[in-house]
Amino acid sequence: MPGEPQDDCLFCKIVAGQIPATIVRETDTTVAFRDINPQAPTHVLVIPKAHYENAAALAAGAPELAADVLRETRAVAEDEKLESYRTIFNTGSGAGQTVWHAHAHVLGGRGLTWPPG
Ligand code: 5GP
Ligand code: ZN
Repeated sequence: MPGEPQDDCLFCKIVAGQIPATIVRETDTTVAFRDINPQAPTHVLVIPKAHYENAAALAAGAPELAADVLRETRAVAEDEKLESYRTIFNTGSGAGQTVWHAHAHVLGGRGLTWPPG
């Protein structure tokens, strides 16, 4: 069923508290935690608690939850006092997706070049 926890999913395990993470924000529907391999002074991942394999599946299957995730990216940026920041959803292995549970990267605290490559 879409949204159901997956036994083999790393981020479902973080949601369940089975794997430790540095959680910076939590709502009824989302969790935000620091990336284990940060690419910027602020690098936080915002995920829905429900399992959707990427942003496209989340947007199609649970648009209100997708909006919750976006709202939380803004809240992270405010908490971290970021004037400029980047929100990224890698969707598909060709775009760098390695964890198959939808997540927004929030990156900031340094200059970010464009295009990202
Ligand atoms: P993707 O490459 O799928 O867009 O992003 C996955 C992100 O998850 C990567 O930036 C990676 O560093 C991060 N990550 C992978 N395993 C863990 C983990 O166990 N804990 C945390 N906090 N982040 C992780
Ligand atoms: Zn999952």
